[in-house]
Amino acid sequence: MSEQQFDLIVIGGGPGGYAAAIRAAQLDLNTLLIDDRQGEDGKPAPGGTCLNVGCIPSKALLDSSKHFHHIQHDYQDHGIQVSDISMDISKMLERKRGVVKQLNTGLIQLFKANKITFVNGRGKLFADRQVEVSPHEGEKYTASGAHVILAAGSVPFTIPNVEIDNKMILDNVGALEIPDVPKRLGVIGAGVIGLEMGSVWSRLGSEVILLEAADEFLPVIDRDMARVAQREFKKQGLDIRMSCKVSGAEIKDDQVHVHYSGGDDEHTEVFDKLLVAVGRRAASDDLLSDDSGVKLTERGQVDIDDHCRTGTKGVWAIGDLVRGPMLAHKASEEGIAVAETIAGQAGHINLETIPWVIYTDPEIAWVGRNEAELQQAGIEYNAGSFPFAATGRGLAMGNASGQVKMLADAETDELLGCQIIGANASELISEIVVTMEFHGSAEDLARIVHAHPTLSEAVHEAALSVDKRAIHKAN
Ligand code: FAD
Ligand code: NAD
Repeated sequence: MSEQQFDLIVIGGGPGGYAAAIRAAQLDLNTLLIDDRQGEDGKPAPGGTCLNVGCIPSKALLDSSKHFHHIQHDYQDHGIQVSDISMDISKMLERKRGVVKQLNTGLIQLFKANKITFVNGRGKLFADRQVEVSPHEGEKYTASGAHVILAAGSVPFTIPNVEIDNKMILDNVGALEIPDVPKRLGVIGAGVIGLEMGSVWSRLGSEVILLEAADEFLPVIDRDMARVAQREFKKQGLDIRMSCKVSGAEIKDDQVHVHYSGGDDEHTEVFDKLLVAVGRRAASDDLLSDDSGVKLTERGQVDIDDHCRTGTKGVWAIGDLVRGPMLAHKASEEGIAVAETIAGQAGHINLETIPWVIYTDPEIAWVGRNEAELQQAGIEYNAGSFPFAATGRGLAMGNASGQVKMLADAETDELLGCQIIGANASELISEIVVTMEFHGSAEDLARIVHAHPTLSEAVHEAALSVDKRAIHKAN
C-alpha cells in the first residue's frame, strides 16, 4: 500500500461529488475524486445515478415518448396530417445511451481540465481521513485527505416478496432499458419515478397501472393541485390505484403476478413487466470502516449539521446520502457550498428554496411551502391562482392545461410557495425561486413586466390574483 496526500478526497462522482470536486479544483485544492460506476462498455461512467440511470436517461425517454404521443394525438388540431407512425424502441434506447455517454465523456474532460485526480473504483473511509482506494484496474492503496466529502448517493428501496431481476421485475435501472413496449406495465409506487416512467411507457402504448400504498395522491402538493394532476393523468390513461398494500409478486409463464390488498379485498393483477419505485435510501453500505467515527442516523443517512459537517473533523457529507430532498441540484449546491467552505469562503445552502419538478405532461413544479404546511405552522397567507387556459400563448400552443398557484404571507406579502402544473412548469418555477431567494413579494412579481404572449404571464397573473386583481380572470 502506498500513501498519497490530497487537500480533498471526494467519494462518489454523482452531481454532488463531481460538482464539489470541480469547485474545489477551481479554488486550487488538490483533489481526488473516486467513483465506482462503469458503463456497459466497462469504461468509467461518472455522473452518478442522475446521469447514468436517473435524471438524464429518464428525461431522454420522456422527450422521445412525448414526441411520439404528440404526433399521434395533438398534431391533427394544428392541421398536420401524419400517417404510418411507428416507434423504433431500440433506436430510442440507443439515443438515450448516446446522450448519457456524451455527458460521461464531457465530465472526464472536465476532470482533466481542472487537474482533478479521478479514480474509477471504490473508496472507503477509515480513521483520520484515510481513504482506502480500490481501483477497478490496479492495486488497492491508501490516500489521505485534509478533508473528505462523502457523496455516495442512494439506492432504491426494495419491498418484501418482490425480487428485482431487472428483466421482469424492474427498478429504475431496468425501467430505462425495456426492449419492447409491454402490453401491461405494473408500477408499485405512484411517486416521482412511477409517474415519470409510467408516462413514458403509457405514451408508447402500454396499459399502465400504478399501485400506491398511501391514501393521498402526491401529498407534497396542495390538494386542489393534486386533483388537477390526477385528473390529467387519468385522461392520459394512467390507472392510479390508491391505498394498495402489495404482499408479493411472482413470475409465472413469463408474466408477473402481483398480489395486493385494496379496500377490504385481495387482488391479483398480471403484468408483462413490473416497475418497483417505492423510494430510495442512502448508499451508506460499505462506505465507512468501524473506526471512521462518522455516525449514521436510524434511516442509514450520514448524520450532518446544517453545513454538511459530520461529527468527525474534516469529514463532510452531501446529496442523497444525507437528509433533505433527493434531488440532483440539491446535491450539487451542497457540494459547491462545502468545497467553498473548505477553501475558506462562505458556502451557502438554502433548503427552503429548492425547486421540485415532476417531468410528466403536464409538468408539475413547486417550491417553498404548501397550504397544509402553512396552516400547520400557523402562518396566515393569501392565495392566488391562474389557469393556463386563460393565456393566449397556452391556447396558441394547443397546450393550455393546468394552472399556477401562489401563496404569500398575509401580512408582508412575501412569497412563501408556488406550485405550477402545466407546460414548461420546470422552467417557469425558476422565476419564483429567484423571487423567494430575494425575499420578494407577490406585489414585486406583479409589478414586473412579463413578455406577451408567454406562459410566464400565468405566473404574473397568479401574482396579481394574490391581491385579487388578475386581469384575465374574474377575481
Ligand atoms: P448519486 O448520483 O447517486 O452519485 C453517487 C455516486 O457514487 C454513484 O455513481 C455511486 O455508484 C458512487 N459510489 C457510491 N459509493 C461509492 C464508493 N464507496 N466509492 C466510489 N463510488 C461510490 N433528480 C433531479 O433533481 N431531477 C430529476 O429529474 C431526477 N430524476 C431522477 C430519475 C430517476 C429514475 C432517479 C432514480 C433519480 C432521479 N433524480 C432526479 C434524483 C437524482 O438522481 C439524485 O438526487 C442525485 O443523483 C443525487 O446525487 P448524489 O451525487 O448525491 O448521488
Ligand atoms: P417517491 O418517494 O417519489 O415515491 C415513492 C412512492 O411509493 C410514494 O408515493 C410512496 O407512498 C409509495 N410507496 C412506498 N412503499 C410502497 C409500497 N410498499 N407499495 C406501494 N407504494 C409504496 O420515490 P421514487 O419515485 O422511488 O423516487 C425516489 C426519489 O428519486 C424521489 O423521491 C426523488 O427524490 C428522486 N427523483 C426525482 C425526480 C425528479 O426530480 N423529477 C425523478 C425521479 C426520482
